[in-house]
Order: sequence, then C-alpha cells, then structure tokens
Amino acid sequence: MATIDNRLLNFILYNYPTKKFINWLLSKNIIIHNQFYKYFLNKKIDSVSKQYKYNPYSLRIENTNICNGQCFMCPYPIMKRSKGTMSKDLYKKIINQAEKLKINYINLHNFGEPLMDKDFSWRVKYAKSKNISRVSTNTNGTLLTPKTAQNIINSGLDELYISLDAFTKKTYQKIRIGLNYYLVIKNINYLINLKKKLKTNKPKIILDFLEFNLNKHETKKFIKYWQKSVDQVCISQIHDWTNKKKLNLGFFANNYVEFSQSPCRLPFTEMLINWDGTVSICCQDIDGEVILGDTNKESITEIWQNEKYQKIRQKHLSLKTNNLKLCQNCKLRTFWWTF
Ligand code: SF4
Repeated sequence: MATIDNRLLNFILYNYPTKKFINWLLSKNIIIHNQFYKYFLNKKIDSVSKQYKYNPYSLRIENTNICNGQCFMCPYPIMKRSKGTMSKDLYKKIINQAEKLKINYINLHNFGEPLMDKDFSWRVKYAKSKNISRVSTNTNGTLLTPKTAQNIINSGLDELYISLDAFTKKTYQKIRIGLNYYLVIKNINYLINLKKKLKTNKPKIILDFLEFNLNKHETKKFIKYWQKSVDQVCISQIHDWTNKKKLNLGFFANNYVEFSQSPCRLPFTEMLINWDGTVSICCQDIDGEVILGDTNKESITEIWQNEKYQKIRQKHLSLKTNNLKLCQNCKLRTFWWTF
C-alpha cells in the first residue's frame, strides 16, 4: 500500500520536468553514493520487502499476448512464446486468490493488446466483484470503439492507460506501425465525452508518451494539448528490453545506473502471470525465460515464497545481479519511493 501522499506521488509521476529532474538526480553518484540517501533507501527497501514478504502487492496479468500492432520499440514482433488468451477458469482462480490475500491492485496487461480479448470487460467486472480496489490496463486505443468504451465504463475499470507516443500522424506512423492515428484520437475523444455525458470519473484516462529520439520534439506540444482533456499525461523513458531490441536510447543511455546501486523493486512487490498461467520474473521476460512458477498448479502464495523467488531477491539485495538472466542487462527503472 502506498504510504507517500497520493498528490505528491501524482506530481512526481506525471509532472514532466519534476520526473525528469528526479531521474537525472537518481543517476548521479553524489546522490546514489550518499550515506544519507543509502540509509533511507535501505530503510524503505527493508520495510517494503517485509510488508510483501508473504504475498505480492500487485498482480500483472497478461489476459492475452495477441496484438494488432507492430510498434517500433516493442519486442512483440520478435516474441517466440506461443500466443493465446487466458482461460476464464484460470483467471477466476487467480482473482479468487487475490481477493482472499487482499491483493488490491491488478493490471490487466503485459505483452499484447488487452482489448483483443473478447472477455476483457467481463474480467474487469469479475475483479471488481471480488473487491479488487484498483484495476487498470494499457491499450493502444485502436479497439476502443463506442461499444467497448461503454462496456469499459460499465465494467468499473479504474484506470485506462492509452499509449499514444506522438502528437502528429507523421510521428505516430513511424512509431506505432500498422495502427491508425486518427482512429485512436477519435476513440479517445469519444471516451472523454462519454464520461462527461455519464458524469463518471472512471476510468481515469492516462495518456502515455514513451519519449525517445523519434518523438522527443513533440513532448511539450503533447503535454500542453492533452493535459486539458485527460486525467493525466505520463511521459516515460524508453528501454531496450534487456538488450533484446536494438534502440537508440539517446540521453537515457547514460541514465541507467540504478541496478548496480540498488535492488529492483519488482521481485519484491509485483507478480507477473502470463496468459498460460506461468509466472515470469517481470514484464521484461518477453519469451518466458525466467519462469518462477505456474498458477495452474501452485497458489500465488506458494510461488511468491518459493526458492527461485527468494534467490532472485537475495541477489538483488546483495547487488549481485550481474549473473541473473535478464536482470544483468536490464535498463528498466523501478522506484521504491512510490511505496
Ligand atoms: S532488474 Fe529488470 S529484468 Fe530484473 S526484475 Fe527488475 S525489471 Fe525485471
């Protein structure tokens, strides 16, 4: 459960200059080697890891890994894992456990476009009926038709992250290959207006912009235009999927120093369940190379506490991730301070 004040957290996460400044600051030796900083970070890590020792804080559930796009920065086109959609029975089994374990946050997305799953709204409704207080997803917005928008509102979804990554059609087409810019804009505007008409504040709409060399000239215009009509605009850093995708990381290439200095938070707080029920270490595991369990055969609690998970956590705590598959090449940044 987040202890930091939510307004402050939102400000840090969604205010572009502040987020950029904090990222920059946390890449500086003067901060990460500072004894005070280390002391408070270790205290934070200790308290979060104790709090989620027995069960995860959140579940990321891959309802499907089928996608309708071929985006420039996404490894989906090179994924070797078999494609499919989670069965309703397995999904129910997972959510029923989440309810009992008081896991309050479910993100319905990993690889794939979640709205390709015809049971998407049913899944959200089911999770909400089991008292999961926060259910979110990430979509490319192409399948957010008027009917789906209405279904999503009816389902009780709390947060809808829409990946747009561009302010113009020209840039969009270079990044979100195979998808239709004007259709997505139309769908977003429809949802905004439908929410107004129905006087509902759910789902919260967050527009995502993954900033890198192809679109960074549009960041400011994007923020200025969209922040007036959606709940949040989120600018994030690009990464290279543990070296699997050759991308020009530009400015951010120098900015990834955190894992040599502090553990990654994900193995301590979030469980990732692939569509077939296997548990992967995290969202960087495109092909299921680091499988830690199987929810078809084991409970969430058994997997979370098993030896494989414990070993990975120990390696992170002792900053010896250089022989851990995936982690050794990872450039994704995760923060402890948001807990
Ligand atoms: S370091 Fe990277 S690969 Fe390892 S658990 Fe964290 S996000 Fe995943």
